Amino acid sequence: MKKTRIVILGAGYGGLMTVTRLQKQLNSDEAEIVIINKNEYHYETTWLHEASAGTLHHDRVRYDVTKVLNRNKVQFIQGEVLEVKAKENKVVLKDQEVSFDYLVIALGANAETFGIKGLDKYGYAITNVNAARRIREHIEYQFATYHTEEEKKDGRLTIVVAGAGFTGIEFLGELTNRIPELCKDYDIDQSKVRIVCVEASPAILPQFDRELVDYAVSLLESRGVEFHVGTAVQEAREDCVFIGKRGETPKELKANTLIWSAGVRGNAVIDNSGFENMRGRVKVNLDLRMPAFNNIFVIGDCSMIINEETNRPYPPTAQIAMQQGEVCARNIAKLIQGKTNLENFVFDDKGTVCSLGEDDAIGIVYGKKIKGTAASVMKKVVDDRALFMIGGTSLLLKKGKFNFF
Ligand code: FAD
Repeated sequence: MKKTRIVILGAGYGGLMTVTRLQKQLNSDEAEIVIINKNEYHYETTWLHEASAGTLHHDRVRYDVTKVLNRNKVQFIQGEVLEVKAKENKVVLKDQEVSFDYLVIALGANAETFGIKGLDKYGYAITNVNAARRIREHIEYQFATYHTEEEKKDGRLTIVVAGAGFTGIEFLGELTNRIPELCKDYDIDQSKVRIVCVEASPAILPQFDRELVDYAVSLLESRGVEFHVGTAVQEAREDCVFIGKRGETPKELKANTLIWSAGVRGNAVIDNSGFENMRGRVKVNLDLRMPAFNNIFVIGDCSMIINEETNRPYPPTAQIAMQQGEVCARNIAKLIQGKTNLENFVFDDKGTVCSLGEDDAIGIVYGKKIKGTAASVMKKVVDDRALFMIGGTSLLLKKGKFNFF
């Protein structure tokens, strides 16, 4: 008899949580499990700001997907998903089609550029390992050529970071740790470096309270960051960025580097497959299934769930993606075992910690505010917890932030 086939798209936080739970919950004669991912490796998306700034080597943020799979139960396909043909129960990859009985879409996010002129070409978004490497190399190149190349020299040492949300602030924390090293390496007077953060909305880090935000802002300002709140990027060019407040004529800022961390949307596969969505995110049922297809689950950054308390969607986070992965796995196992009482997803908010470089951070953990070294230690605990949840002790020892050896 043909076995039921479960196909999981994406080996990020959501996809790996689902597959590692399913391989424990199902016997190999109950279902065939397939996971498809663009690369042979998983990367810790939440560490990419470090690889982008050059404070952590890019190999530290990734590991082979197969390391956490039980190969007796799970097949891994390396391939790029182009589209889901939901009515035909098929996934279209670049070079093949894969059929499914149950599907989990966990393909993460793409940068949202809001149609801003030049952003696709000249803005650098922190989206994956290779994007992070490009950013690190681009910035280093600006420093390396400062004394030797006259062309576009004015903006060579100016870095604009668009977005003062989580990603932008975490990147600034790392960048401001890295700049002194780059200046030393390339004999550059640090006063020549300019770091400008522009934020279109009136708020920096809106998920944190005033005291913590003030702490983060004064720390970054003391390391040389200029904040321009209520100011949006209007256009990006190779050697300059036009920024301005609403209703004002945009000002030209000479800058060869623009880091775009001002918005994400769900993966393009959601649009390409014709699924109803809001900014690439599918509003899922409480059991995490797509309303129109009861054999398709959507989790992580491709999904949208409303927070009943605020009546607004939860922001896309690794914490939510992982918790959804656990519920999704339990629900698929139930369906395979003929049960109908599917579990609803309820977000268990354990808190959020935003790093401000190597040894500083702010956070709210189990409702308690923390900052400084204590928060920084907690950030590493959070990072390591994700490794442990997915790959157990062996992965934690190999990749963890705390140096055990
Ligand atoms: P991901 O973990 O991004 O995984 C998606 C996977 O799908 C990837 O492996 C990708 O290669 C693969 N994929 C994509 N497209 C295709 C395709 N077409 N075909 C095949 N495979 C594909 N969240 C927190 O909770 N805490 C934090 O501290 C935090 N910090 C962050 C810092 C940064 C710099 C960034 C960028 C994000 C941060 N986030 C944080 C958000 C968090 O990383 C995301 O919400 C989380 O990664 C979403 O998980 P996911 O499983 O949906 O997608």
